[in-house]
Amino acid sequence: MTAPNPLFTYYNNHCSLCGAKCNADRTKVAGLCKAGTSVKVASATLHFGEEPPISGSNGSGTIFLSHCSMSCIYCQNYPISQMGVGNDRTIDWLSNKMLELQSDKAHNINFVTPTHYSFHLYDAVMQARKAGLSIPIVWNTSSFENPETVKFIDEIADIYLADIRYSNDKDALELSGINNYNDIVLKNIKYFFNAKSHLELNGKGIAVKGLLIRVLLLPGRVKECKEILDFIKRELGNETYVSVMSQYVPYYKALQHKELKVRVSKEEYDMVIEHADKLNLENAFIQEIGCMEE
Ligand code: SF4
Repeated sequence: MTAPNPLFTYYNNHCSLCGAKCNADRTKVAGLCKAGTSVKVASATLHFGEEPPISGSNGSGTIFLSHCSMSCIYCQNYPISQMGVGNDRTIDWLSNKMLELQSDKAHNINFVTPTHYSFHLYDAVMQARKAGLSIPIVWNTSSFENPETVKFIDEIADIYLADIRYSNDKDALELSGINNYNDIVLKNIKYFFNAKSHLELNGKGIAVKGLLIRVLLLPGRVKECKEILDFIKRELGNETYVSVMSQYVPYYKALQHKELKVRVSKEEYDMVIEHADKLNLENAFIQEIGCMEE
């Protein structure tokens, strides 16, 4: 007999799966994230552009989900996240696709922007595991889950690839249209860490479990980026795996924003990297300016 899905309570009739808790009855109307009742998938393929422990040599089995509970004005994937490009898929399709990616030798299954579909993905992962899925599940998230749901998500996630995007609620509201960012995201990050600890690698340097935090430097936001790194060092320790990302490019509505319409400068990125060094963050992934794709 299949166990009941514990996320049903947070999905049925009054959705509160993400930190927005907009209470939409998704059977009748889309929520703030614009997601309805079925899972929309933009792509499902091997991906080689993640951090080395995630992509490895075989690639990450990346399932890119449509829509998003955040509406970042600079989203580089805005056709998928904001315009909903993708196709409706069933739980059976998702389960079979995970098994297919495992057969293709993917190191993991990587759900990109999964929060608003966490109810569906819970069932899909449980079904796939019963059918033989054994590679880790990467929860590649904005970290904007409703904190009440993360203990259930933790039943299906092995690796958290988790963003901390802002150090203050004002930026989060202006640039991503969400309230209470800090309270929600920092609480979730601490939960991810307490549940799975630091990233754990196998003998080939491939992640099998744990937390990897992504910090995207935005133009004009060096101070805020440093504050995020301070939080990581203070709350989680200097062994935390952190990816400090320089790849920001002004897409979507950012082209009209006075600060975000430019790229990050080398000087800005260098200041952040110097700070990471000063904090002795031992496991920081650093990029060459503008050379890495998400
Ligand atoms: S996941 Fe979507 S529908 Fe559910 S609370 Fe968040 S924004 Fe609303």
